[in-house]
Amino acid sequence: MQQMQGAVRSYAWGSRTAIAELTGRPVPSPHPEAELWMGAHPGDPARILGPDGPRSLLAAIEENPQFHLGAACRHQFGDRLPYLLKVLAAVEPLSLQAHPSAQQAKDGFAAEERRSVPRDSPERNYRDEYHKPELLCALTDFDALAGFRRIDHTVALLTALNCPQLTHHLALLAGQPDPQGLRALFTTWITLPRSALDKLLPAVLKSCVDLAERDGEFAAEARTAIELGERYPGDVGVLASLLLNRVTLRAGEAIFLPAGNLHAYLRGVAVEVMANSDNVLRGGLTPKHVDVPELLRVLDFAAGSVPVLTGSPQGGERVYLTPTREFRLSRLELGPGDVSTMTHLGPQILLCTAGEVRLSSGETELLLTKGCSAWSPAGEPSVTAVAGSDGAQVFRVRAGLDEE
Ligand SMILES: [Zn+2]
Repeated sequence: MQQMQGAVRSYAWGSRTAIAELTGRPVPSPHPEAELWMGAHPGDPARILGPDGPRSLLAAIEENPQFHLGAACRHQFGDRLPYLLKVLAAVEPLSLQAHPSAQQAKDGFAAEERRSVPRDSPERNYRDEYHKPELLCALTDFDALAGFRRIDHTVALLTALNCPQLTHHLALLAGQPDPQGLRALFTTWITLPRSALDKLLPAVLKSCVDLAERDGEFAAEARTAIELGERYPGDVGVLASLLLNRVTLRAGEAIFLPAGNLHAYLRGVAVEVMANSDNVLRGGLTPKHVDVPELLRVLDFAAGSVPVLTGSPQGGERVYLTPTREFRLSRLELGPGDVSTMTHLGPQILLCTAGEVRLSSGETELLLTKGCSAWSPAGEPSVTAVAGSDGAQVFRVRAGLDEE
């Protein structure tokens, strides 16, 4: 077990306070800090602190995969850590995006390799050959757009907007209220010529202002569209936002984003765990590369509300159950002096997000204060956590191994 030092990523949409505060550094930070990466992603691996000083977790795993990952994890996922843990701090909306399935990622990666698109090119969609299901668990109130809303509700929203320029689009969806109709409407919108978009968007936004002022049903959705329109003028993502579930998570609540789920994070601080991949297809709300045809290829147009996960009690933890094998996220809420023993197979990361906790495994002891994380390699049969005098909140991520 070793103390871990995450890698801070700076993006314009990040916060100058949240990650600095969490990790005990001066506030405000000189740059907006968007993400703290804890894992062994080649793009920005975390460092582990050993007796010989800090070293890259990626290098450590590559040097001794058997010790760090163990036989079961290697057998199932190869010689790489299958997950990546992040803290995400957004003060502004992130891009509208979706992630490919395992097969789509494999095919897409192979196709771009054949076309010799450099792996670090901004035009590159598939930087690796893996899927990237995501699970996001809120640390503060967290607003997000996730998955297509029930179609009858979207028809009701577009009706409530009462925008003459949308009459034709509304009729399209109301006439075919199924995933094909939704695909047709979304495709129409996202491929609108600039001149048409420049006429439609101001009209829709004006109707959104009227709807927000009436403060009835869909006022929150209208306000989100207005905010997106202010932040990303002329962006088709503003229209797309009207089709998506708008969710506000409370601390401890989570959503799972499977392959093909169209989503955009709006604001808040959260813990996020994902399969260890960087494959993102963007549709707007970003200065980054947008590839509409490829996005349309991977999107899932199934519509419905997005389930909010609160974690199933198992032992002393709440486990956020998902169908993804690459990761398993759980949360421990410990009162003052509480003791919890975690037995596990495979490699795990522990992140303390409140209070402090003393970890021990065999001869090794480690104090995790708020914002600190620890790497526990596969060989450790159990880790015992003892909370400090104010209690502690600890997130635990590990691989979902077949043996369990
Ligand atoms: Zn995503």
